[in-house]
Amino acid sequence: MTRLHLSPPHLTGEESALVQEALASNWVAPLGPHVEAFEREFGAAVGLDHCVALASGSAGLHLSLIVNGIGADDEVITSSLTFAATAFAIRYVGARPVFIDSRPDSWNLDPALLDEWLERRSRTGKLPRAVLPVHLYGQSCDMNALVAICDRWGLIMIEDAAEALGASYGNRAPGSFGSCGVWSFNGNKMITTSGGGMFGTNSPVLAAHVRKLATQAREPAPHYQHEEIGYNYRLSNICAAIGRAQLKALEDRVMARRNIFEQYRRTLTQVPGITFAPEMSYGRHTRWLTCIQVDPMAFGSDREALRLILEAADIEARPVWKPMHEQPVFQGFEMVGGAIASRLFRDGLCLPSGSAMSTGDVDRVTAVILAAATT
Ligand SMILES: *Cc1c(COP(=O)(O)O)cnc(C)c1O
Repeated sequence: MTRLHLSPPHLTGEESALVQEALASNWVAPLGPHVEAFEREFGAAVGLDHCVALASGSAGLHLSLIVNGIGADDEVITSSLTFAATAFAIRYVGARPVFIDSRPDSWNLDPALLDEWLERRSRTGKLPRAVLPVHLYGQSCDMNALVAICDRWGLIMIEDAAEALGASYGNRAPGSFGSCGVWSFNGNKMITTSGGGMFGTNSPVLAAHVRKLATQAREPAPHYQHEEIGYNYRLSNICAAIGRAQLKALEDRVMARRNIFEQYRRTLTQVPGITFAPEMSYGRHTRWLTCIQVDPMAFGSDREALRLILEAADIEARPVWKPMHEQPVFQGFEMVGGAIASRLFRDGLCLPSGSAMSTGDVDRVTAVILAAATT
């Protein structure tokens, strides 16, 4: 039997024709017609006027912070429960992260906890400049609550929607609520360009600034004129060609992942000690990854033991993100609460969820879990 990976790339078959076309046209560069078309098509998909295709989601977060004027004297609020790239970007600009615990239902940044902390901070010190909410594993944060908090305290919002392409909050895409949003097209994300990212905004000014910084900050002049520090962060025309084919299949990919989740849930719901992250009533969870919580008392073994049992059957499962407040590199930064994120990590396991999985593949995973439960 072949190894089941967590979330491998899922090609549509249309990628090679578009890549061939890019090669034949000699647009083998970090610009070109596929880049422009991908930006336009992506903007239409998420409901934003201006998108800039970038080399990675991490590059998008970095530039988002720069163009919003966030620097070394600032603090930026984010979720402790996230992939490190979110918090790394805050450090790239020299700012200090303030980590907030998750809600136990959505697993996302807890708005009530954040509001209380801001109230306390407003009496004793300087407020952070920005909030960087993360829409984890394909589920939106509570955007009405977060937008109200940003209005109340005068905070800039930058959204990390790297894991949430295809998700909704009401009828809008997470990533389209703040000053800007960022998506990732890494190999394991909902769609892939092999590696890449997107910056999106409704502000022509922010978009133009990101575009400029991502292409080495060239000023409009015939020679190379530079007035600020630039980066080489653009997406290549070849990668954008792949992205265009992938984007067309987005809705199918979301439905496939939701069906995989449903199959896991139906089969495992009877197993004592296994629970699933709920889908919040305010929007659509893409189930980018199906994540379970393993209660060791009820299940009979803990998350790590179960992971090793799956590994022995050549099935790749991964612990939920280890929270930033437990990471050595982020010791010394403020953490507000933390018990929920720590528990979600301790008991949390992400199961293989690639959109190309067959029902037989999912059966193979659930059979191992069912067997582990009864031994
Ligand atoms: C994947 C991811 C990123 C980074 O995106 P890259 O394209 O890999 O740089 C940022 N934040 C979160 C939450 C992610 O999952």
